[in-house]
Amino acid sequence: MASRILRQLIDNRQVVGRGFCSQAPIRATLFPGDGIGPEIADSVKEVFNAADVPIEWEEHYVGTEIDPRTQSFLTWESLESVRRNRVGLKGPMATPIGKGHRSLNLTLRKELNLYANVRPCYSLPGYKTRYDDVDLITIRENTEGEYSGLEHQVVRGVVESLKIITRQASLRVAEYAFHYAKTHGRQRVSAIHKANIMQKTDGLFLKCCREVAEKYPEITYEEVVIDNCCMMLVKNPALFDVLVMPNLYGDIISDLCAGLIGGLGLTPSCNIGEGGIALAEAVHGSAPDIAGKNLANPTALLLSSVMMLRHLNLTDKATRIQDAIINTIAEGKYRTADLGGSSTTSEFTKAICDHL
Ligand code: NAD
Repeated sequence: MASRILRQLIDNRQVVGRGFCSQAPIRATLFPGDGIGPEIADSVKEVFNAADVPIEWEEHYVGTEIDPRTQSFLTWESLESVRRNRVGLKGPMATPIGKGHRSLNLTLRKELNLYANVRPCYSLPGYKTRYDDVDLITIRENTEGEYSGLEHQVVRGVVESLKIITRQASLRVAEYAFHYAKTHGRQRVSAIHKANIMQKTDGLFLKCCREVAEKYPEITYEEVVIDNCCMMLVKNPALFDVLVMPNLYGDIISDLCAGLIGGLGLTPSCNIGEGGIALAEAVHGSAPDIAGKNLANPTALLLSSVMMLRHLNLTDKATRIQDAIINTIAEGKYRTADLGGSSTTSEFTKAICDHL
């Protein structure tokens, strides 16, 4: 427990690494996104106002027509906004299943070269699940793997999808994971893979992880096959610390991790790009089943905004907001339906503001 508290204190100081020092108003890009996105983005704006956070939002909405410069509904101007501000917060963006336009999330990751997605997952004090002490960091390779978008029909009835793994992207994300572990007081990095079957692709990923591991003798390195990893996580999440893995596995494992602590309403993330770009976003999607009903839990996006504030070295504001969220949930009077409560998004947001 003591080591967990120490780790969290270090994480609280420097969640994603690089930072800015200024206390003057900082411009940040905000994508409210689709579905529940605008509702939970409003929560962030409300809490930031109440906490007097010196952020000036530059809001960008998903366009209604494809922008030929991005080949997606994201406008070129919105991407330029993130490039200029170097920091932003993103609501979930919907992607039609099995058809339609290029995923907006993929466009953002590719265009902005957001190579690593950091997904912390920790038990919230006062919110009881089967485990009391989950404290995991999933680091997902964010630019290639099965998400390369290279799919085609070979002949009628046969389709092919290419999984791309490169040495460059694998070394980059492995380096990020080990550096993260070292600078955040973490002891172990587990590379998650299926190299027994995907011998070439996951094999290369592992080779790169091993190469980087040699530079960090103080960090324990291990390799775990993904199916076994799922079983071990459900049985005893304390077996893991920092997990690094190819794109698709990261998508799946982080949802599993969310399930360990109470669900997708609670898990934040931050996308890290070359040159220190940080685009924070919740792990969850646009939740169309509850969109527009004032039912969504804004915690995941709020905790993502906390990661963004730590990236900007606005540590006091970040800690104040994080404490207010945790205390509101722990008190139990105001909780959204996904956590077994009956509060609306707005009631829960107001309760957080009252706890600041
Ligand atoms: P989802 O995460 O949107 O929803 C899964 C379940 O979790 C739903 O029952 C939903 O109601 C619940 N849930 C999610 N977030 C919640 C919150 N904040 N509060 C309360 N309940 C919450 O996953 P899905 O239904 O598979 O995907 C819906 C859309 O979102 C799809 O178009 C998908 O492509 C997209 N998506 C986007 C992102 C992203 O923008 N990064 C991530 C995942 C999915």
